Amino acid sequence: MGNKIVILGAGYAGIFLSTNLSSKLKDLAEIILIDRNSYHQLMQEIHLVASGFRTEDQLKIPISSLIQGKKIKFIQSNVKKILPDKMIVMLDSEEIKYDELIICLGSSTKYFNIPGADKYTLPLRSIYDASIIFDHISKIIKEDKKHNIVIVGAGATGISLGSALAEMINLSENKDNIKVNIIEATSTILYGWDIKVKNKIEDILKKRGIRIFHNSLVERVDEKTLFLKDGLQINSSLIIWTAGVKGFNIDIEPGIEKTNDGRIIVNEFCRTNQYDNIYSIGDIAAMKNSKGVLYPPLAQIAVRQARYLADSISERYTNGMTPKEKFDYEIKAQILSVGNNEYVGLLNNYVVSGDLAKMIDEFTKNTYMKSLKTGGKNMSVNLYENDFFSQVLAGMTFAGFTFFKGLEKLAK
Ligand SMILES: Cc1cc2nc3c(=O)[nH]c(=O)nc-3n(C[C@H](O)[C@H](O)[C@H](O)COP(=O)(O)OP(=O)(O)OC[C@H]3O[C@@H](n4cnc5c(N)ncnc54)[C@H](O)[C@@H]3O)c2cc1C
Repeated sequence: MGNKIVILGAGYAGIFLSTNLSSKLKDLAEIILIDRNSYHQLMQEIHLVASGFRTEDQLKIPISSLIQGKKIKFIQSNVKKILPDKMIVMLDSEEIKYDELIICLGSSTKYFNIPGADKYTLPLRSIYDASIIFDHISKIIKEDKKHNIVIVGAGATGISLGSALAEMINLSENKDNIKVNIIEATSTILYGWDIKVKNKIEDILKKRGIRIFHNSLVERVDEKTLFLKDGLQINSSLIIWTAGVKGFNIDIEPGIEKTNDGRIIVNEFCRTNQYDNIYSIGDIAAMKNSKGVLYPPLAQIAVRQARYLADSISERYTNGMTPKEKFDYEIKAQILSVGNNEYVGLLNNYVVSGDLAKMIDEFTKNTYMKSLKTGGKNMSVNLYENDFFSQVLAGMTFAGFTFFKGLEKLAK
């Protein structure tokens, strides 16, 4: 096998993989990173751009600054097609030959073939999408008339967006005229999350005046109306669709095995079943954990898969070893943003909120940024290696938790 490694996508998976690989491989391989944008997007805060609490520039990190001084060639172009038999990637700008290919093109919005959903609703999958939503909301809050804003989907994205938009609206003069509604197909918000976290977040949503429709299936959408299966119609000035995620639909010929929703099926070594030299990680990859359940589309999974793959590829280049250990990771903590500067989450079965949750979020973001910039050379990357959340963060959080609880007791 030759030594030209091509990485498609500079999101959480692709940027972390390329910087880590470059640190480990040095001159042993040529690394080419391709993305249609010149910047890496900090996705976990894009709902705060949609609600005006962050600017676009705060969440765009120039890729050039992340790969500075590293042996990575960056090409800004759109990936059009992959030809695995010829080992070629076709870009808008040129064709690139590869020896090994890693596909990390992320995800896109899934509309479940619901008529009108893709045409009349706005998605939230990028900073660009967030800026379009912000433009609409900015106009709405200036108008002195009644408005309904509808968000379809009460998963993490819908809840984060809804709480941030409600906070923005409540700060405006027109707050009594605008209502935020969240439509959810199942009987609960944040399906799959811990009940204690859900209860805490439901309280926050209620206080912000958000209306939640449970067990409500969308039948169709037109320009200004959402039609539910139970016959209810909701008129709306703005409908945002956060109800589903599918793999980014990349054209591969001959085709590679994918799930029904377009995720590329890979084994526990992040490798496709059809081609030994094609891997996929992050949201676009469908990988099962040791219990046979697909990993969810989360940045914390994408970063860990990138770390794993960088290790296993560099082992092969440096020692000729093929990986023996499979990728395996259990999510130990999840923190959800519920407005500007407000977070709620679960850590080792404890609900965290307030200053403590904010501190964890800040610490996670800072650590991520540091490890991106150093490509695996500093302490923060060791945190990832040793399981960042379960080891260091847990220790730190419990120290903080005990401290704050102690203060609370003293105050009583
Ligand atoms: C509002 C929101 C909040 C979130 N919060 C969290 C959170 O708190 N914690 C968490 O763990 N996860 C969170 N996530 C999920 C997280 O963002 C994703 O799991 C993560 O981005 C996946 O990383 P990735 O590298 O697979 O894809 P991405 O980060 O989406 O990167 C894909 C890259 O591919 C590029 N690309 C796509 N198509 C092409 C093409 N045709 N040609 C060239 N380039 C292309 C894109 O420009 C992008 O840079 C959140 C998601 C959203 C939408």
